[in-house]
Amino acid sequence: MSTTTLNIPTQSTTSTGSNGTRTILNYVGGKWTEARTSGFLPVMNPSIGKQIASVPLSTAQDVDAAVRAAQAAFPVWSSMPIKERVQVFFRYKTLMEKHAQELAALVNEENGKIMSEAMAEIEKSIEVTEFACSLPQLIAGETLEVSKGVECRIDRYPVGVVACITPFNFPNMVPNWTIPNALVLGNTMILKPSELVPLSSLRIAELLKEAGLPEGVFNIVHGGQAAVEALCDNPGIHALTFVGSTKVAKLVYIRATSHLKRAMCLGGAKNHLIVLPDAHEEMTATNVAASMSGCAGQRCMAASAMVAVGASDHIVRRLCDEAKKIIPGKNLGAVISKAAKERIERYITEAEQQGARILVDGRGAKVEGKEEGYYVGPTVIDNVRPDMKIAQDEVFGPVLAIMRAQTVEEALKIENANPYGNAASVFTQSGGVARYVAEHASAGMIGVNIGVPVPREPFSFGGWNESKFGAGDITGKSSIEFFTKPKKTTTKWNPESKVNWMS
Ligand code: NAD
Repeated sequence: MSTTTLNIPTQSTTSTGSNGTRTILNYVGGKWTEARTSGFLPVMNPSIGKQIASVPLSTAQDVDAAVRAAQAAFPVWSSMPIKERVQVFFRYKTLMEKHAQELAALVNEENGKIMSEAMAEIEKSIEVTEFACSLPQLIAGETLEVSKGVECRIDRYPVGVVACITPFNFPNMVPNWTIPNALVLGNTMILKPSELVPLSSLRIAELLKEAGLPEGVFNIVHGGQAAVEALCDNPGIHALTFVGSTKVAKLVYIRATSHLKRAMCLGGAKNHLIVLPDAHEEMTATNVAASMSGCAGQRCMAASAMVAVGASDHIVRRLCDEAKKIIPGKNLGAVISKAAKERIERYITEAEQQGARILVDGRGAKVEGKEEGYYVGPTVIDNVRPDMKIAQDEVFGPVLAIMRAQTVEEALKIENANPYGNAASVFTQSGGVARYVAEHASAGMIGVNIGVPVPREPFSFGGWNESKFGAGDITGKSSIEFFTKPKKTTTKWNPESKVNWMS
């Protein structure tokens, strides 16, 4: 397998192997450290199908070393006033802005999404960091005189060492969903990035260091299943967040909570868009096309199923016109791997064999000059039945399955029957219908005439049903609950006040 030059990050974050491949290092206690393992995986650039680095499959020993570093850093970091801790993140935000282009290029290189999408990811990382910078205002405690001379107050304490396990589709943004909030709130952290996209995390660590984060507050352990299981099992870790597929989210949630950890595990999705015949044709078609194809359909907020209600053929036709304007290698990036490309194309073929109609066919896409890249073109499939696999499974590619319904009730029945619940959207010009669908769709994030209804800060991110295990949401105010524990102090200084039933 040939290798290409990895332009970023800096040399210190990797070591050079005997075959010239750069091997990524763990980041433990502020030092770049070789993993104690003999297992490595290639890191590929999906746009060109070439290896760009190797990632170690760290062991429980590596996790243990990171936990010890995070534990050692915890007393000083957690006892620092939040108004001091937050200063690091004002600087981190400025550094992300300064290096935005370079951070986006790194996402593009390891994930395959196009530069404008990679840049949008960095912008979201900056936005969540802005939110973290407001945390001192949001967590100011509460006090109340609860009976004569007696005061109750609530203070929020960090949970301790937290672990954060992330997927391949947002190498910069998903780690940043938790890093700023968890650390500003006084926790120390171990990040386990996806082994498919480990490079962005290296630059995150470098920028946090440059921003003045003390050694050991943020650590990285690379790897796969074994590293994740060690994080679930390690008694030194108090809370764990996971973002990835539902199958793994369930396993991780069960394993982490069986070790009495606080856990929040976000899983996969099958987001339904309900389209009414009165919907604004152009707005609906462009929104739906962008939602199903953005980041090559590899978003947990992507539209992957559309229920067209009644006489909606005009919208389906317009949607196909829009989909045909999406060109692989131009305004559509690569999917993550050869295996992903094959899986997505298999789903399309199976649907066709079961009687669905392929209106726009993205199979066999090739990009000139990038013939080895993993591309799938935009695909629109009509006449899909709810019992087909293409309607039920998370395909995670630029593919839209269209089902037909006669009424809004029937459309909602289809949406409600899917086991996931990340997002659902309705496209209509009727406020009453929009309100009805928003109320009755079984999803945590609802869009009205919006194809990707990601709540912006300070609104929190999180789905329902099989799209999330654990209470609360991962970002926004909800993250305060997850990353802190409340201490309630009841005080009386005046001996002359009478003793009553509670104090
Ligand atoms: P994945 O579940 O394969 O991997 C996620 C993480 O789990 C990685 O760090 C990986 O190393 C680890 N992992 C993989 N198999 C494991 C196992 N058996 N035991 C323990 N750990 C394991 O997910 P992915 O393919 O990287 O990401 C895509 C998935 O993530 C999609 O399902 C997508 O919907 C989901 N996702 C969800 C959200 C959300 O907010 N709900 C956001 C982004 C992505």
